[in-house]
Amino acid sequence: MDQSIRKVVIVGGGTAGWITACLIAAEHRNAGERRPEVTLIESPDVPIIGVGEGTWPSMRLTLQKIGIAEADLLRECGASFKQGTEFVGWSGDDAAPEYYHPFSFPIEYSNTNLAGFWLEHRDRSSFAELVTPQAKVISAGLAPKQVETPEYAFAVNYGYHFDAGKFAMLLHRHGVEELGIKYVSANVVQIDGEPGGDIQAVNLDSGASIEGDLFVDCTGQRSLLIGDHYGVELQSIKDQLFNDTAIAVQVPYPQADTPIRSVTQSTATKAGWIWDIGLQGRRGIGHVYASDYLSHEDALSIVREYVADTSPGADLDELTFRKIPFEPGYRSELWVNNCVAVGLSAGFVEPLEASALALIEQSAGIISKQFPVNREIMSVVARRFNQRMQYHWERLIEFLKLHYVLSQRTDSEYWAACRDPETCPQGLRDKLTVWEQQPPWHDDSPRVDELFPSASYQYVLYGMGFTPSYPFLPGVEPDRDRKRAEELARTNFDKTQRVLNFLPTNRELIDAMISQREVA
Ligand SMILES: Cc1cc2nc3c(=O)[nH]c(=O)nc-3n(C[C@H](O)[C@H](O)[C@H](O)COP(=O)(O)OP(=O)(O)OC[C@H]3O[C@@H](n4cnc5c(N)ncnc54)[C@H](O)[C@@H]3O)c2cc1C
Repeated sequence: MDQSIRKVVIVGGGTAGWITACLIAAEHRNAGERRPEVTLIESPDVPIIGVGEGTWPSMRLTLQKIGIAEADLLRECGASFKQGTEFVGWSGDDAAPEYYHPFSFPIEYSNTNLAGFWLEHRDRSSFAELVTPQAKVISAGLAPKQVETPEYAFAVNYGYHFDAGKFAMLLHRHGVEELGIKYVSANVVQIDGEPGGDIQAVNLDSGASIEGDLFVDCTGQRSLLIGDHYGVELQSIKDQLFNDTAIAVQVPYPQADTPIRSVTQSTATKAGWIWDIGLQGRRGIGHVYASDYLSHEDALSIVREYVADTSPGADLDELTFRKIPFEPGYRSELWVNNCVAVGLSAGFVEPLEASALALIEQSAGIISKQFPVNREIMSVVARRFNQRMQYHWERLIEFLKLHYVLSQRTDSEYWAACRDPETCPQGLRDKLTVWEQQPPWHDDSPRVDELFPSASYQYVLYGMGFTPSYPFLPGVEPDRDRKRAEELARTNFDKTQRVLNFLPTNRELIDAMISQREVA
């Protein structure tokens, strides 16, 4: 029997489905006889989730691999540049109410840890300002590069904000027209194959049956293949991260030339937080909250008040406030037999730090790069995939929990519960114990494919006001460390002044890139 893997069937046409389909098709477009045939099936009746507007810098590489011009992303998806996240009101410390988690690493991060020096001089500047020009670039509303900078290159690191629905449409068009993906609009109504064995085909409400060698479940919260067919349960993590509902709203700018911010702003509320994302023509705003601690009515009035305060003149009655419930958790086994889950079907924790699309890119990247040429290899790839994803989910939960466990807010039961050590994963408790005596460093995030490097932990820890008992790395001679850090702080200061002088605003750069593309 021929056990070659030739036919890939992806069920679901949201961001997860299209990113996976496009990456597989692009990676193997020159594979000759071994090139797999990629088919994507999408229900005409079940809409995509339509949120997921914040990405990481990894999205630049994903788009480059797929072959999408950056200017097309800007033109077709209302996209803007994202340089990190600004956290407002999380620490509960009125003296330091906000901080940045920027996308750039601290200066010379591969060999110098600046945390000790900053902790000794914390009154001079924020941690982010001391270690990277990006903090001031964000505050000044500037873009991450110049018009002349080649596409996907940068002066300071960046990802994107975009309209999730338009992004799926762009990938759809590109995938079908440029990458040869077959598209089928129909509902999958039945699956051929025993739950203990491989799937042979999926049957559609059109009467057609689509056979495949590898099936990718991108059916979102429905989780049709990995959940319903294979019975892999969602492991809830609501005992650690409590948020389970969002209310999303799109708010137009008052004027066409309103400045566009290049961070996701995340503002803590009494039982959750509000995201605020600037696109070209509107902001995407959403209140993420824990329904065990806040009623829907109260959550709605908090986000309405936020919109009224930040968008004077907006007519709230004209806006649609959409409720999106979710169960925070993930499935322990994501690749079972010849079926792998990517996206919301695999799990979802909450949108803090916008990690879901990055996890989709990682998953789709592994499937496309380690594409199993035959069934025997697939079992090995599946085992490794499951181990790797388990690692990523555990680290993701720890990193998100860090934002809550350090908060000193006292305004609700929610924040008290967030700090309860019983709700904190052991891995994070261990890290915090170590960081009392030494700052985060490379051994804390040892893998090359780590979602959150130790630098990310530094930005959050010191932004939240974490004060360790001892600030330097073990074995470091503090005087030498201080001298080197002084030099680097000066270098960073000079570089900051330089980039502030030449970078355009976000809107200037976006408009220029779009008009260049239209002329070409
Ligand atoms: C409130 C909220 C905010 C978020 N914000 C962010 C963010 O800022 N950044 C980020 O990275 N991520 C974010 N996410 C996550 C992000 O939205 C998702 O990870 C991403 O959109 C991928 O969704 P998906 O493709 O898995 O599912 P969906 O978009 O739900 O797509 C599911 C697809 O399955 C199809 N389907 C379902 N049933 C069938 C069937 N029977 N037959 C055929 N097709 C079927 C549907 O038609 C649809 O095409 C957020 C999520 C939520 C809930």
